[in-house]
Amino acid sequence: MIGVSAEPTTREAVSLTGTDLHLSFGDHKVLRGVDIQVDAGTTTTVIGPSGSGKSTLLRVLNRLHEPDAGDILLDGRSVLKDNPDDLRRRIGMVFQQFNLFPHKTVAENVALGPRKLRGLDKERARALALQQLEIVGLTAKADARPSRLSGGQQQRVAIARALAMEPQVMFFDEATSALDPELVKGVLGLMADLAQQGMTMVVVTHEMSYARNVSDNVLFMDNGAVVETGEPDQLFTDAASERLRSFLSQVL
Ligand code: ADP
Ligand code: MG
Repeated sequence: MIGVSAEPTTREAVSLTGTDLHLSFGDHKVLRGVDIQVDAGTTTTVIGPSGSGKSTLLRVLNRLHEPDAGDILLDGRSVLKDNPDDLRRRIGMVFQQFNLFPHKTVAENVALGPRKLRGLDKERARALALQQLEIVGLTAKADARPSRLSGGQQQRVAIARALAMEPQVMFFDEATSALDPELVKGVLGLMADLAQQGMTMVVVTHEMSYARNVSDNVLFMDNGAVVETGEPDQLFTDAASERLRSFLSQVL
């Protein structure tokens, strides 16, 4: 366990559902009727070859792209008629690139969202930032510039920044892919802690050990569609489709 000493979140976990999601870019069908059901407080890992639509699925689920068809439900209620900004505030997102502001301190980076988007004053935003930094084990770095931190520490700051918005769901899109191998474990450990605490999460990853050991469900995508979904033990030991067996034989 990594630095989880602050109060765990007391917020109620919510479910996330995508039904029959379609998206095309021009003639290119990138999502072809994707269904995803993430029960409250569970983690679904999305695996699949490059270009299969994993990142696009996350971007549709938080409406960075509007789906051509299908529905998105948070806590059992469709969000497609809401202001997309409301949805994005309820879903925290962590990418491969950390995108921290280099001229701001670590604490300022974490406090920025709460100040600008949630209207907290400077002191309250800093207090919240320090609380989130404690959760990711980086209190000591609060007043450092991001460039003084390792890649793994910077990614933990990016996670703290997302958590500071007090999201109901967290998305991770290949959050460890840009990290040096020795730094991957710390970030995966933090993600596992969040899952353990009951955060609803969707995790796109190439880390098959994480998919297998931490997630409640695995969704295997290929060519814009869900080829197979199920519990990790079943999927990893007894894949039904030739496509998943072949994918696993390449990545395991
Ligand atoms: P993955 O994350 O599984 O690697 P992506 O969701 O990034 O896959 O991409 C799926 C497909 O959609 C790819 O063929 C990609 O080229 C295409 N694509 C993704 N984003 C865009 C975009 N903004 N415009 C056009 N095509 C896109
Ligand atoms: Mg991707």
